[in-house]
Amino acid sequence: MARIAFIGLGNMGGPMAANLVKAGHEVIGFDLVAALLKAAEASGVTAASHISQAIGEADVVVSMLPQGRHVLTAWTDILASVPAGRLVIDCSTIDVESARKAHEMARAAGCLSLDAPVSGGTAGAEAGTLTFMVGGSTEAFAKAGPVLEAMGRKIVHCGEAGAGQAAKICNNMILGISMIGVCEAFALGEKLGLSHQALFDVASTSSGQCWSLSTYCPVPGPVPASPANRDYKPGFAAALMLKDLRLSQEAALATGASTPLGAEAAQLYSLFEKQGNGPRDFSAIIEMLR
Ligand code: NAD
Repeated sequence: MARIAFIGLGNMGGPMAANLVKAGHEVIGFDLVAALLKAAEASGVTAASHISQAIGEADVVVSMLPQGRHVLTAWTDILASVPAGRLVIDCSTIDVESARKAHEMARAAGCLSLDAPVSGGTAGAEAGTLTFMVGGSTEAFAKAGPVLEAMGRKIVHCGEAGAGQAAKICNNMILGISMIGVCEAFALGEKLGLSHQALFDVASTSSGQCWSLSTYCPVPGPVPASPANRDYKPGFAAALMLKDLRLSQEAALATGASTPLGAEAAQLYSLFEKQGNGPRDFSAIIEMLR
């Protein structure tokens, strides 16, 4: 079993660190928020008073932080303390450029590194059923196996440095666009006097089928577990969807990719957030589209 330092014990990091403890690893955690450190202690994580104390003699370091700038700051501190040859994994969703920079920093410090963003949300983090999209060398990927398997169910090696983040933002751009498409179809169906159930029964078994419709239906009724049935309590918050869509647009600008629907989806979610809907589930955008 490994000695693991876990940096960032928020909504995702807290339960992920708890699952590492459950799998038998020794976990030393750090977060800037004292209350989160206390909560992590209750699940068997040893609380460190400083990032360098958490790193100590850790075999593996995992970070789960809000944005690229937080990751680069934390990795500067991590790499100043971690012995050479160790593995550092970032599971945050950040821009590809920052992810590649973090890999370069790790290489300069003589460490192995991976970008390994996740999908599955807080429910997947708690249940240990996250999907990991991983970028980095095959050597680092092989070494990370037992650590990622304790927190997730599906682990995909997407390619070299930054490939995990690239896969994550491409997937979530599909999700943002497809959710808006499904919402527009239900709003049009309502105007045409079509019941939600009738449209669902047809589209979920026809060419309009997609995850936003069949698993996460944005109107109450057809899929009882979807957030539409609990007044759009997340789920996946609209603010996080907007974050991911903005990352996709930064990447499109940097690479010259043409993503007009991704750009439109980012605009619509930006408007939706400005109306005070950031904390609500992203499928609530149907209310604005109506
Ligand atoms: P969160 O804000 O709840 O947690 C982030 C934590 O990082 C906070 O507790 C913060 O105090 C801590 N932090 C920031 N800088 C730090 C530093 N230098 N040292 C130590 N701790 C530091 O966010 P979250 O919901 O856990 O999300 C984390 C990442 O996972 C984000 O990149 C997010 O986009 C991604 N993600 C979230 C979800 C979700 O459903 N919440 C799903 C998939 C991916």
